[in-house]
Amino acid sequence: MAAGETTDVLETLGARIDARRDDLVALTQDLIRLPTVNPPGVAYREACDMIADRLRPRGFEVAFYRAEGAPGDSDRYPRWNVVCRREGRAPGPCVHFNSHVDVVEAGAGWSRDPFGAQIEDGRIYGRGACDMKGGLAASIVAVEAYVDAFPDHGGAIEISGTADEESGGYGGVAWLAERGILAAPRVDHVIIPEPLNKDRICLGHRGVWWAEIETLGRIAHGSMPFLGDSAVRHMGAVLEAFERDLYPSLARRRTEMPVVPDGARQSTLNINSLHGGQEEPHAGLPSPCVADSCRMVIDRRYLIEENLDEVKAEVRDLLDRLGASREKFAYRLRDLFEVVPTMADREAAVVRAVASGIVAVLDRAPAYVVSPGTYDQKHVDRIGRLKDCIAYGPGILDLAHQPDEWVGIDDMLDSAKVMGLAMHGLLAGRF
Ligand SMILES: [Zn+2]
Repeated sequence: MAAGETTDVLETLGARIDARRDDLVALTQDLIRLPTVNPPGVAYREACDMIADRLRPRGFEVAFYRAEGAPGDSDRYPRWNVVCRREGRAPGPCVHFNSHVDVVEAGAGWSRDPFGAQIEDGRIYGRGACDMKGGLAASIVAVEAYVDAFPDHGGAIEISGTADEESGGYGGVAWLAERGILAAPRVDHVIIPEPLNKDRICLGHRGVWWAEIETLGRIAHGSMPFLGDSAVRHMGAVLEAFERDLYPSLARRRTEMPVVPDGARQSTLNINSLHGGQEEPHAGLPSPCVADSCRMVIDRRYLIEENLDEVKAEVRDLLDRLGASREKFAYRLRDLFEVVPTMADREAAVVRAVASGIVAVLDRAPAYVVSPGTYDQKHVDRIGRLKDCIAYGPGILDLAHQPDEWVGIDDMLDSAKVMGLAMHGLLAGRF
């Protein structure tokens, strides 16, 4: 779009978005006050209704989908999703804004009511304020301002509110993608307003492999450990091998993916849990036994340059080497969960559209980043076969899941303008 036209559109949209400031704040507060905590997954239907009630009067068709059969779905905690769609006057691309409506538990350490949505110094506080009810509200207001200004737009605009992102997205985006709803060819461009900061475009995320390693031993009386075989000591050897061989090797692998923070711009491994011997807690004293089992859950994050089979083989080979060098070493390795890395092309239409919006609204070049952890883009990409997908939204990522989470009101307004401009260019097929 020509520079002059961008300025005109920004003026038209910007004024309409600024005029909705109080409305944007009220909508964000209403969303935060719905305690959509996951697990177990509360008040999803109310959140979907809130989105639908806003958009129906603006000419959006509304469809509710309950992800029956998805993990966690029950009559008590139904996994509701909503997709709102506005058809334009002429055929054209479909621009889709996807937000998850669930939030993680409040946890301890709050100095404010986590579901009170208190306003202070231009910030709205509450669980989900930045992750990601602020982004959802900003996208709704952006779309409302846009259809007011350009009621005869082409293509189609969609907004979805989806379940369970915090627990893997299987009752949300994955479910919709499997049914061709949040998928190509029905949808062309997807913006997920996760809190990545208003001047950053998140292209994707690293891969994940969770696994459980169990070392095996033999039980015996704890006063004569030489008569048994300690699974905990075998696990000690695994940890030693991790420190000696695996961690240094992972740290050497730098990625071309612009992962932030910088410490995550390499392969990483977290030991999520470790347990050997008698179950805890127990009443009274433990009994003297040699541990016959020790289990460790690992969380391996891998890079787009790596391949999942090799990632798994690296750990298996390390364990096999211990088996060859250490007497009676026996293990089991169990896959728990995996996600392949995903990264949109910098030249993808949605990336260029949002980048030009950031330049126009904030007068600075965007930063391109990749998330250390995963989010629903994985399902849009893998299941929905839609590469033209990014995360872009207001809020500071570091605040997500923390006590006293907040989102800045001005940041929401700015990012709403960027979303509106990007939508304008994409619907017109300019990118
Ligand atoms: Zn989120």
